Amino acid sequence: MQLEPGLSAEQERHLVQVARDARLRAHAPYSHFAVGAALMDEHGRVHAGANIENAAYPQGLCAEAAALAHLVVAGGTRITAAVVVGEGRAPVTPCGGCRQKLREFARDDLPVIVADGREVRLRTTLGALLPHSFGPDHLHAVPGREGV
Ligand SMILES: [Zn+2]
Repeated sequence: MQLEPGLSAEQERHLVQVARDARLRAHAPYSHFAVGAALMDEHGRVHAGANIENAAYPQGLCAEAAALAHLVVAGGTRITAAVVVGEGRAPVTPCGGCRQKLREFARDDLPVIVADGREVRLRTTLGALLPHSFGPDHLHAVPGREGV
């Protein structure tokens, strides 16, 4: 069964809890800014990730990217829901790079839920976070590249 983007209240609660649990495993000794993420794939499976900082700072990995790696290795090809959990005055939304990484496996209608340890702070979509985005469909629309 392939799931379309969309999320029940129960699924949202589950994804938020998975992201909160993942956040507790973040490796963030430099910024102390721990982030957790949970991605649901087209089969309803949930993949967790946490940010992984590195002493060579640019080598660090965002929570969403870590979760995406799990999704792809598990055989997922589409993201049907994304949750990010972090603590801050403003909701901890995916960074620009992660918005693009999510776009590779999702459409504009992807639900993106942003929460902290207490509550959901923001319910939005990838299209709202990354309007007029560039994605795989652009490359497939290039004459001569059909089926690539
Ligand atoms: Zn990021």
